[in-house]
Amino acid sequence: MEHTKKSNIDIIDLKSKIRDIPDFPKKGIIFKDITTLLNDPSALAYSLDALTVPYQNELIHHVASIESRGFIFAVPMADRLNAGFVPIRKPGKLPYKTIEVSYDLEYGTDKIAIHMDAINPGDSIILVDDLLATGGTMKAAIELIEKLEGTIVGISVLIELSFLKGRDVLGDYPIHSVLKY
Ligand code: AMP
Repeated sequence: MEHTKKSNIDIIDLKSKIRDIPDFPKKGIIFKDITTLLNDPSALAYSLDALTVPYQNELIHHVASIESRGFIFAVPMADRLNAGFVPIRKPGKLPYKTIEVSYDLEYGTDKIAIHMDAINPGDSIILVDDLLATGGTMKAAIELIEKLEGTIVGISVLIELSFLKGRDVLGDYPIHSVLKY
């Protein structure tokens, strides 16, 4: 595609640009720190290309994403696909009327929200996040899009922690992950 000016896919080892932080934000979690990847122009450009390429010949109305790290990738992806961007946020952050869904965390529940007029029924949507772990967050985002009767064309994530089997809870939607662990 045309946005490959800064990326040299032959020399970039994308995985080496991600920093593992053990025991963050709590013991037992190995946090995938993408700030080191974002800091590197070639790695950033390559990541955006890789996240976007499966959809470049499709008509996409909106790229929807979950705050906050998903937004970093979703907005430039939307621009490359001539699509709009739709933010999905924690309750109380979006200023207009919203719909919300709850989802389970390891302990307790959480909620995410979307503006009720963010998409029209039948719009083609791609869902984007930086990382797919258990899939709980993405499943809730799918529910929001389905409530607004959007058509989910695909799910695109930079990192998939395959051992957590998040893919298994997301139904039949096609999932594209750039890096698998
Ligand atoms: P989940 O709902 O379990 O799939 O978690 C996905 C969300 O949590 C994503 O928005 C990630 O940004 C974040 N997340 C979960 N696990 C990690 C991890 N090991 N490193 C970095 N971010 C993570």
